Amino acid sequence: MPKLDDYRRKRNEGATNEPFGDDGGPTTSTLTGAFVVHLHDATRRHYDLRLEVGGVLASFAVPRGPSLDPDAKHLAMKTEDHPFEYLEFEDVIPSGQYGAGPMIVWDRGFVEYLEGPAEEEITNDKLHVRLHGHKLRGAFALVKLKKSAKGDEWLLFKKADEHASAVRDIVAELPRSVLSGLTVEELARRERIGEELVKRAARANGASRTSVDELFRPTANVLASARPPSDVTPRDVRYDAELDGLRVLATKHEDVVALHLEDARGALHPIEAFYPDVVRALRSLPPARLALDGTLVAFDASGRPSFARLAERVTKKRRGDLHVVHAMPVAFVVEDVLAIGDVDVRGATFETRRELVEALLPAPGVVRASPALAGDLDTVRASCASLGIGSVIAKPCGARYGDGWTRHPTGTSQRPRVAIDHGADDARAALRRVDVTNRSKVFFPESRLTKGDLCDYYAAVGDVILPYLHARPIILVRYPDGIEGKSFFQWNVPAGMPPWVRTLTFRSEDEGTMRRGFFVDDPTTLLYVSNLGNIPIHILACRAPDLAQADFFTIDFDVKQSELKHAVTLARTLKDVLDAAGLPGFAKTSGQTGLHVLCPLGPGQSFDTARALAELLGRVLVERHPDLATMERVVGRRGPKVYVDTGQTGATRAIVAPYSVRAVAGATVSTPLTWDEVEPGLDPKAFTLRTVPQRLAKRGDPMKDLLHVRPDVPGAVAKLAALLGRA
Ligand code: MN
Repeated sequence: MPKLDDYRRKRNEGATNEPFGDDGGPTTSTLTGAFVVHLHDATRRHYDLRLEVGGVLASFAVPRGPSLDPDAKHLAMKTEDHPFEYLEFEDVIPSGQYGAGPMIVWDRGFVEYLEGPAEEEITNDKLHVRLHGHKLRGAFALVKLKKSAKGDEWLLFKKADEHASAVRDIVAELPRSVLSGLTVEELARRERIGEELVKRAARANGASRTSVDELFRPTANVLASARPPSDVTPRDVRYDAELDGLRVLATKHEDVVALHLEDARGALHPIEAFYPDVVRALRSLPPARLALDGTLVAFDASGRPSFARLAERVTKKRRGDLHVVHAMPVAFVVEDVLAIGDVDVRGATFETRRELVEALLPAPGVVRASPALAGDLDTVRASCASLGIGSVIAKPCGARYGDGWTRHPTGTSQRPRVAIDHGADDARAALRRVDVTNRSKVFFPESRLTKGDLCDYYAAVGDVILPYLHARPIILVRYPDGIEGKSFFQWNVPAGMPPWVRTLTFRSEDEGTMRRGFFVDDPTTLLYVSNLGNIPIHILACRAPDLAQADFFTIDFDVKQSELKHAVTLARTLKDVLDAAGLPGFAKTSGQTGLHVLCPLGPGQSFDTARALAELLGRVLVERHPDLATMERVVGRRGPKVYVDTGQTGATRAIVAPYSVRAVAGATVSTPLTWDEVEPGLDPKAFTLRTVPQRLAKRGDPMKDLLHVRPDVPGAVAKLAALLGRA
């Protein structure tokens, strides 16, 4: 039985925002993995401990949460396995859905199974683990109750070690998310909290709202540097330990996070592909825009910053070892802030900027505030030296960003520095590679076509399909188990989405809510969505940034109650009418049984105009072929006629993209046709993911001018109105 059957059965895949990943591989010997503890404010507040076992997350609901006291044995109800992507999940599950309510990532890290593979341990009703989290550390045990009625009651408790404490109440002491720094109560107000932080920044003395674009698209390094100390020491200073890591400028613009590293020649390199854990945490911080000055740090076994360990992680990550992200976590220690929202705070005082950093990052976590060290220089130097820190930066209070910063060695011998090779540009590009999982999973059973075949098809037609997708919000329809399994629509950015996917935030006119959508603008993202099990690609008739303008409209000939030959007659008549009105039109098979005609509008047209034109054309067709065509919306009243559907145009109405595969037997493709091909012998079933690439190679794309022509729309409206009047 697929491991996630229970998970999927409990959830409405189209309505929840939770991830729906793979079932994981058939592994049987998990010795290490990732873990997460969610704080979930559902009907009853509880903590969910989830441990990676065989590619999915074994999950336990712990009402009282974990305790550091070995004598506190807390009930842990074993619940359904969750997909691996759930590690990243922090969001509010919509009301009405299973588990509705906010859920934060209360802790996250790396787990070792101490007494053998996790699969065997669970079979034997126990789990002995060592956790390496931000909050939970050391050995814990989970033991199933012998008298458990339903077989799902376990006990979670701390085992005695140096991390145990009978005094500390860890869940009360550290209530916040290790990703966003928010409490579970604050999560639903995330955007407002972000706006409040921006307002707070704007009120700071010395803050300015002049353009901060240079910080978000930096062409040169904007980070300040420290000088050697001079004789004149400012009276009031604070110190930042210079940690053994990589100093970077981190920027966040909506969902797009970048980490900029300066090379020896002063050029900036984006290195975020190597640090998806840091990207995920930066993305979840409340303000929509941020520019931060900080250091990427990996820690050795004793908890000290280790440059060698950072280098080791980058090397392994470059070799494609994804596990390394969890096994060797990286923190981003923030020393300063340059911008919050559109407010440049570099002119504010050191104390003000540090207060902003601490307000932004109130919790221990992946992104954390550097502690500003006070005291006299010798004391600070000595305590840093004892921690193996080679230097401290003195920053004068009351001074703006970078003013009067000086570097002071602590006297400890610096370990020799290894070089970290984030790789040449092609190596970085390789990190954008998508590894197709479960290639051999059968997606189209009757034709034995697999997920690998689907991904190969989209890769083969990428050059042709991508121009139709460019800058358009995309709607996925995912089939994780192929066309005979469940499917679900997805407008929002998928959980665990890589940092390089372009996203946008827009208001949904249907619901008045903000959506976070994304673009499929490049071959890698196309492969990425294919690997998510997406079969058809749906597009809107508008392009960012102006999502209120329609650049084409669609007339859909639905032949479910008629025959294709009649749709052909109607489409040819439509072509005549379009010619008479001076409008271009392009035909394609729907990929199922019918036909679509797409009519380009060029720039600057509203959806109202698009809808009105489609409606006029539909009426002309019904008048000319009353025996073949109907625009009747009620199915039962249509009779054996072709339904001319002109309602496919609207700000949130999606159509299946040209060259999109359909989730039907035979893996047919919605295929653009020349008008010569729109004839009674047309066989839409002949166009499949097997045949379309050769067809394209031989005949090119008959629809390629769709997005380039600029028809005279007002002229066409006038001509059509006249035609209709005459009919
Ligand atoms: Mn839960």
